[in-house]
Formats: sequence, C-alpha cells, structure tokens
Amino acid sequence: MKNKMRLSVLAVMMCAVLLTACGKEAANDEAKDRDRMYQVSLLQGLTFGDYYGSITVEDLEKNGDTGIGTFNRLNGELIMIDGETYRAAGDGSVELVSDEETIPFSVVTYLDADETRNLREIRNYEDLCIALDGVVAERGKNRFYMVRIDGNFNEINVRSVNAQDEPYEPLVDVLERDQTFFDYENIEGTMIGLYCPPYMADLNAVGWHLHFISKDKTKGGHVLGINFDDAVLTWDDTDGFQTKLPQNEMFSGFDLTIDQTEDIKKVETNK
Ligand SMILES: [Zn+2]
Repeated sequence: MKNKMRLSVLAVMMCAVLLTACGKEAANDEAKDRDRMYQVSLLQGLTFGDYYGSITVEDLEKNGDTGIGTFNRLNGELIMIDGETYRAAGDGSVELVSDEETIPFSVVTYLDADETRNLREIRNYEDLCIALDGVVAERGKNRFYMVRIDGNFNEINVRSVNAQDEPYEPLVDVLERDQTFFDYENIEGTMIGLYCPPYMADLNAVGWHLHFISKDKTKGGHVLGINFDDAVLTWDDTDGFQTKLPQNEMFSGFDLTIDQTEDIKKVETNK
C-alpha cells in the first residue's frame, strides 16, 4: 500500500514536471512566433517575375493572422485578416481562398495591439503616410510594424492584377497591361499595413505597404489612394523577422544584388 502510494505520488509529480516543461515550451514558442514578421520570398524576387507559389495558404496561416501578399501566377492581392486569407482579384471580386492555394510572396504576423489611436482628417495617401510615420518616429524607425486601420472611408482607390501565364515577365511590365483599378466611396472596411525599416531595401519595400478589404468582404486591393474623416489605428510592434525563400530555379538564378528601388517604387505606388 505504501509503495503503491509512493508510486502514484511519483507519477503525479512526474506528470506535473512534464506538464510544466511542455507548458513553458509552448509559451516560449508562442511568444517567439507571435512577435515576428514571417516573409515568403523577397519582394525583389516577385518584381523580377517569380510568381511561382512556394507555400500553401494553410502553412502561411500557421505563421500569423494578419498580412499582405499575392498568389500563385500573381492572381490578385492577398489580404489576411482575423486569421482568414482573402483574394482581391483582377476583376474586382473578393473571395476566401482555399487552404491548398499557394503564395509566391507575403508578409504576415500575429496582430497583438501595442496601442490603438484615432486617425483623423486624412485626405490622401501622403497624409496617411505622414500620420503613420509620426507614430514610427515615436516608436522607432528601425523596427517592423503591422497595423490595421478600421473605418468608414469617404474614398479609397485600390488596384489588383490579373493572373499571369508562363513565361513570367517582370512585374513592372505586367502591371502596365494587366493592372486593374477600382475606386470606392463611403465604404466600411479595413486596411492592413506593413512597415519595413530602411535597412530592408534589398529584401522588401521600405516604408508602408497597405492592402484593403471591405467589411462585407466583397471589395479590396492594394491601396493607392485614401480619404477619411476618422478611423481606428491598431498598432503592433514586431521585433522579429524570418524569411522563407522559394526553391524554384527562377528564383535561384536571379541576380538579387541588382538595385530595384525604382521598379519597386513604381510597382508599389504606380508612379
Ligand atoms: Zn500590395
């Protein structure tokens, strides 16, 4: 009887030790994963024309709940919001994307609010960048940030792009003929925004990159213009960065030392 009791006490203690160890590990993993940007490929790879999906939606969603990107064959703009991945397609439609679909370029993270504040009287895209850069100046320009901006927008101008066929051409050439533009008025929705620090110039676009999705999930795209009176900004400081490089031959063959700053500016701002 005594031995049996000792054994069961031992068993309970061991379980407790194991549980504590597992719990700690899980907590560590969680903390590490939630506070880092997870980037698929380099924007510079996409700009050169690598539109081959290298990760599934299912796996991308294991690395965050909020983000931006595009799809295999450059088939529309990706918006990840509240853990769901949507496509704003070249024809202006929006759909929830299946788990199996693949992604050539994306940046996602878990959006854990470090602060929220109101943005007011934003009349154009430059106003918005100035307002967001004001927060960057307070919190530090050398970190990554993911934000969401929820509101009822007086006006929003977005673009998307039509799916491409091989052989893939550079993004600037594709956008000249296959970019589509949509202007919406009095529309409720969310902009998801990524800020990359200045030293990221060879791996992504420096500064802000925003995608939009309407509240009813029927409209969306890459943001080019904006006008609103009042919106709620949710801000997430993100101090980690991880990149998952594609394995395909096209990416492997690129000379990624070539400076693409001008092309990227054109691709991002359409200017
Ligand atoms: Zn975009």
